[in-house]
Amino acid sequence: MKATYNQPNKFRLEKQGVGANRVLDPYKPMVALTFDDGPSPLYTPVILDVLDEHNSAATFFVLGTEADRNRELLAEIIQRGNEIGNHSLNHRDFTKLSIEELNYQINTTQDIIEEATGYAPLVLRTPYGFVNVDLMKELHMPVILWSLDTRDWESRDPEKIYDEVFENVKDGDIILMHDIYESSAEAVKQIIPELIERGFQVVSVSELSRLREVPLQAGNIYSNLY
Ligand SMILES: [Zn+2]
Repeated sequence: MKATYNQPNKFRLEKQGVGANRVLDPYKPMVALTFDDGPSPLYTPVILDVLDEHNSAATFFVLGTEADRNRELLAEIIQRGNEIGNHSLNHRDFTKLSIEELNYQINTTQDIIEEATGYAPLVLRTPYGFVNVDLMKELHMPVILWSLDTRDWESRDPEKIYDEVFENVKDGDIILMHDIYESSAEAVKQIIPELIERGFQVVSVSELSRLREVPLQAGNIYSNLY
């Protein structure tokens, strides 16, 4: 097993080529939309269509196992201007793994994504958002958590998901959703146009970092960029 990715690697940081064709204004409000645990052949394409329709982008924190089964969809996520992040191979709790298991979870997923898309992810979201000090020392990628949890996995109700967003959203939020539920895909059809209506730009995590001029650094945890 080669351990090439869970290591500091400056070159990969230069390969950030996603979302290149969109014109974004660093002085206007923005939120990063993130989707975990996919990709899903049923619901990810629905979300991609809504993003395209509204000239928006998101970060998809995929599982290696799902990515492996859906390589064409993975490539499509990137080709349509979005970002892919690493969310582990099969959703193990990283705080309970040996270093070997941890590196396997991260590196295998990086390999699958790079083979399918030509891009290795720049950002990592730990399963369940679990992190601790010991784990952070072993993670050589920036860890992206969230500031707005839509609780879509719990409610499975498009209206409740929508309300969670609009009762809480503010400039610089990182919004957590999942692209594996029909209710989440349905909610996105209402949420994205309404965010734009309210003056927000809908961006990927790396775009948020670039626009806010806050470089994402390995060893750090980011829950928002306010
Ligand atoms: Zn997850």
